[in-house]
Amino acid sequence: MTADGLGGTIARYDARGRTVFVLECIVTKFGGSSLASDEQFRKVRSILELEPTRLYLIPSAPGKRFPTDEKVTDLLYDCHALAAEGKPFDDLFVKIRERYLSIAQHLHLEVDIEGALDEVHRGIAGGKSRDWCASRGEYLCGLLVADYLGWRFVDAAEGIRFHDDGTLDDEKTQELLSGLLKDRKPSVVPGFYGSRANGEVVTFSRGGSDITGALVARAVGADVYENWTDVSGFLMADPRIIDGPAEISSITYKELRELSHMGASVLHEDAMFPVHRVGIPTNIRNTNKPYHPGTLISKNAPNEVSVPTITGIAGHQGYSVINVEKNMMNSEVGFGRKVLSILEEYGISFEHMPTGIDSMCVVVKSELLASHREEILEKLEKLVDGSGSVTVSDNLSIIATVGRGMVHNCGTAARLFSAMSRARINVRMIDQGSSELSIIVGVNDSDFEATIRAIYHEFVG
Ligand code: ASP
Repeated sequence: MTADGLGGTIARYDARGRTVFVLECIVTKFGGSSLASDEQFRKVRSILELEPTRLYLIPSAPGKRFPTDEKVTDLLYDCHALAAEGKPFDDLFVKIRERYLSIAQHLHLEVDIEGALDEVHRGIAGGKSRDWCASRGEYLCGLLVADYLGWRFVDAAEGIRFHDDGTLDDEKTQELLSGLLKDRKPSVVPGFYGSRANGEVVTFSRGGSDITGALVARAVGADVYENWTDVSGFLMADPRIIDGPAEISSITYKELRELSHMGASVLHEDAMFPVHRVGIPTNIRNTNKPYHPGTLISKNAPNEVSVPTITGIAGHQGYSVINVEKNMMNSEVGFGRKVLSILEEYGISFEHMPTGIDSMCVVVKSELLASHREEILEKLEKLVDGSGSVTVSDNLSIIATVGRGMVHNCGTAARLFSAMSRARINVRMIDQGSSELSIIVGVNDSDFEATIRAIYHEFVG
């Protein structure tokens, strides 16, 4: 059994959760809820003990222990905001202090976490940047985890490099991280941040520890990147719409990209690229159900006995369709470009663009259109110049049915549209990319949930 592109081995687990095929190097990332308390720390350690080739750990900052709890990162942002306005922030900082001290005390840790907390407090009071303050959640958590496991602590500021404009310096990061970690000594690398060449700390966007994990996995040439969280991977549909949807055991990076774009989120979008490019699979796992195999995301979903016709369904409400009609549009070279450049002027990206002979529809998010709607329509009217029309219709939902299995199955579209027709749903737009990876339908917002249900029950039961 080989991993995509690498020729390594993909993890398989027996009924008791033991790895059947041994991997040489696994990178693990544990999310905030997986490190929210000393009890969660204990679970993390037993997961690592199950598999000695889990060599690297990327921690998030402690997250929520119960639904109404606060995340350390949110508290740090709030402390920074208060300090920036010259207001006292000690009442909030006490909560942060207690979180770390409680974990350290319950686990009998020796690291000087009080000293590290004092330094963070001084930094916030002394006007350190917003990114620096937020990054301390992961930094402090990393100190605790490293001490608890007896592993080396590697500061992400030394391995993850950002350009001066705040974007990731991918090449330099690869060089620095692979140099720092090449000895394959078990190490903890805090997630979410890195630094500019001048040492200033920079963070990724929220949820960015997922990206750190992917960068570490790529740098050490891991067999698999395990992303441990509080769900057992991806579900085929939103559980708020479908009661108990089926779990997705295997998905390709391309499919996941389509589903994430339409709202299915477990993993930070930017965490896919570093590992996808070099063929390292990502395995989403549940810290609270360590024997559940989770979802395996890979380049080609290899070694499948049978491919399901559809992998998942996701959608969004709140789109608008700009319908532009113009006589002889078909023969006017560059007309489409002119329409799109008007949208570009206002920084609006379009989602879909079905066209006819003398008409084109541009589907955009209504909230993006809202602020400049009148100006944009005026400019489009000018473009059609009295020989056509420009109209907008709102309240469109877009639903993507995604599946690599569609390529091999005739009649998928027929089944999908028959199911919608039986549910008396009117289709306002259809788009099937040439990749045959997804079928996109546009329906009235009021039909959004009914459409997802109709498609799900047709293909999954
Ligand atoms: N702690 C950061 C956040 O809450 C980053 C992360 O958890 O990935 O967004």
